[in-house]
Amino acid sequence: MKEEVLKIRHISKNYAHKQALKDISMTLHGGEILGFLGPSGSGKTTTIKIVTGQLEQSSGEAVILGRDTRKLDEKIYENIGIVTDTSGLYEEFSVYENLQLFAQLLNVEPKEIDRLLKKVGLIEQKKQPAAKLSKGQQQRLILARAILHRPKVLFLDEPTSGLDPTTALEIHRLLLELKETGMGIFLTTHNMDEATKLCEQVALLNDGKIVELGSPQDICLRHNSDKQYRILLKTKEEILLPHNRENSLKLSQWITEDQIEAIHSCEPTLEHVFLSVTGRELS
Ligand code: ADP
Ligand code: MG
Repeated sequence: MKEEVLKIRHISKNYAHKQALKDISMTLHGGEILGFLGPSGSGKTTTIKIVTGQLEQSSGEAVILGRDTRKLDEKIYENIGIVTDTSGLYEEFSVYENLQLFAQLLNVEPKEIDRLLKKVGLIEQKKQPAAKLSKGQQQRLILARAILHRPKVLFLDEPTSGLDPTTALEIHRLLLELKETGMGIFLTTHNMDEATKLCEQVALLNDGKIVELGSPQDICLRHNSDKQYRILLKTKEEILLPHNRENSLKLSQWITEDQIEAIHSCEPTLEHVFLSVTGRELS
């Protein structure tokens, strides 16, 4: 059994004029990436703030590493890492110094810094001021800082937002490696492909409510109501074939006669599911 590192039960949050979260429940295990997927304003950052003890919910409860998030003390930060869009770097400090500062605060051995810089591909930039790094390199440095103390749970608030695809892929590779070490990762994003690729479980969030929860594949199959196949015949004719008895016969005949060049089933993507459940686009 994997360890439950975060459990959220019926959390709601009211700001003065806005109910930002409505009865949110979910569980994150060690060695898992949980994707929290929703458009801007859907409540992703509010959720991260609540479960990391930076903001109090209006009702419900959340438990992180066995502790109520309303009663966390400083010690908890030895076991969690957080990356948000306000996670700044000391720009005039070097890459190394940025990590050194945190290493001292968190009692991490200095030799860990080089190991980590190699891992995130910044060892050659070690002596450069943080201000001189590209956006992607800065993001990797912020990530390095958040995992320097090998936390059990890592929170990432839209870590690849605004990054070019190559850098986003590097971040993905790092996250998968961290997951393999048993870390539980809570990832918010409005990028469906990212969520589909990385996450064991995703929650689709719309206007503060979870409208779907499950593995990306299960969610997509659940919404696969009008099943169809896209078929490319050897004659180069392309056909979209709805799934029914008559077409099954046709399909099996084509297979027997070796007439098919390629065949794909057309399950909806998370993007389609989100659109069909909420009537709105994700990003
Ligand atoms: P996301 O991170 O998904 O973009 P947020 O959690 O930041 O969403 O915001 C959810 C909703 O709560 C939005 O409508 C936002 O305007 C509102 N909100 C966020 N923070 C505050 C605040 N401090 N006071 C009032 N409303 C807020
Ligand atoms: Mg946000």
